[in-house]
Amino acid sequence: MAIHHSKVLILGAGPAGCTAAIYAARANLAPILVTGLQPGGQLTITTDVENFPGFAEAIQGPWLMEQMQAQAEHVGTTFLYDTIVSIDLSKRPFVAVGDSGDTYSGDTLVIATGASARWLGIDSERKFQGFGVSACATCDGFFFRKKEVAVVGGGNSAVEEAIYLAGIASKVTVIHRRDTFRAEKIAQDRLFALPNVSVIWDSAVEEVLGDANPPGVTSLRLRNTKTGVLSELPVDGLFIAIGHDPNTSLFKDQLAMDDEGYLITRPGTTQTSVPGVFAAGDVQDKTFRQAVTAAGTGCMSALEADRFLAHHGQTAVVAAE
Ligand code: FAD
Ligand code: NAP
Repeated sequence: MAIHHSKVLILGAGPAGCTAAIYAARANLAPILVTGLQPGGQLTITTDVENFPGFAEAIQGPWLMEQMQAQAEHVGTTFLYDTIVSIDLSKRPFVAVGDSGDTYSGDTLVIATGASARWLGIDSERKFQGFGVSACATCDGFFFRKKEVAVVGGGNSAVEEAIYLAGIASKVTVIHRRDTFRAEKIAQDRLFALPNVSVIWDSAVEEVLGDANPPGVTSLRLRNTKTGVLSELPVDGLFIAIGHDPNTSLFKDQLAMDDEGYLITRPGTTQTSVPGVFAAGDVQDKTFRQAVTAAGTGCMSALEADRFLAHHGQTAVVAAE
């Protein structure tokens, strides 16, 4: 089994990891980036991206991530296609083991493993992902200007997404499986005050219905969770807002996390609770969750890793097991 050592080991190939790689490589740190199961990260499962600065026309998410990877490789990053299954942060160099059996060690570590939106788990939801079904109103709301959309969920995220969408879409219907929201009262009051928002209580989305060519959502089949009665709601788009899970199970009991599992970083930095370990992107950000903010913290993490190395020096290369 191979051993790979680098001054900066980066986990994750989304906007945060790729940007950390670009900055670390340009600082002559020859970073190694381990991609995980989703090289390119969350943007590879979307279509149009209209809010990443620098592109006057809409660009495709997968294309943007190909470009970021090519840029990082061009300046000297090594991308390795493996998924980290265990890690030891108790001493430097930090040592991670991949699914392949290979070992990765780093004098510093940048964690950019992202977060995953929770989905309903129905086949038709997957079929229309990127074609009317989304988990990000800030990202995709603009595509539904003056159209009718639905939001699923009853927490703060769902209510905030619905309020945001109400400023763009002509009509927003929130679908919640129970008869009360768990969102804060103040957010609920704001939502209920909006004239173009209505709520369908006690209901679950059973199926997303739509056209195949061109692909697009036309309606939702709903099931009343109390009576079982089925109904159909015409909509152009469906936003799932039932929470996110940060990809941090690897770091449990090794790094400080909040009660939802997001890595805690020192305010204004990407420093985690272990010196030399930095966290960037959605793995430490449950508020903004945008490609540009992930890239921004990715940049910070590489600059901070570089400074850390300047102060603390490198470690001996990890010995073979
Ligand atoms: P991610 O993109 O989530 O990348 C995480 C990386 O970590 C992946 O490469 C994964 O394989 C890797 N990884 C995970 N676990 C491991 C492991 N154990 N070992 C090694 N690697 C691992 N944002 C916008 O700004 N504009 C948009 O238009 C937009 N549209 C979106 C559309 C959709 C459908 C979704 C889901 C999100 C969208 N976003 C958009 C949000 C944006 O994609 C995220 O904010 C951004 O991708 C976060 O970047 P990240 O690098 O932190 O993590
Ligand atoms: P959340 O609070 O866990 O709420 C998830 C919602 O989705 C719940 O209403 C839940 O229904 C529903 N849900 C879960 N699984 C579902 C499924 N399979 N089908 C249908 N509905 C489902 O998640 P969140 O709203 O993303 O918030 C996460 C955390 O971030 C919370 O602590 C929240 O307060 C915080 N947050 C804060 C702000 C803010 O302060 N401005 C903004 C956003 C998020 P039930 O209610 O029936 O369980």
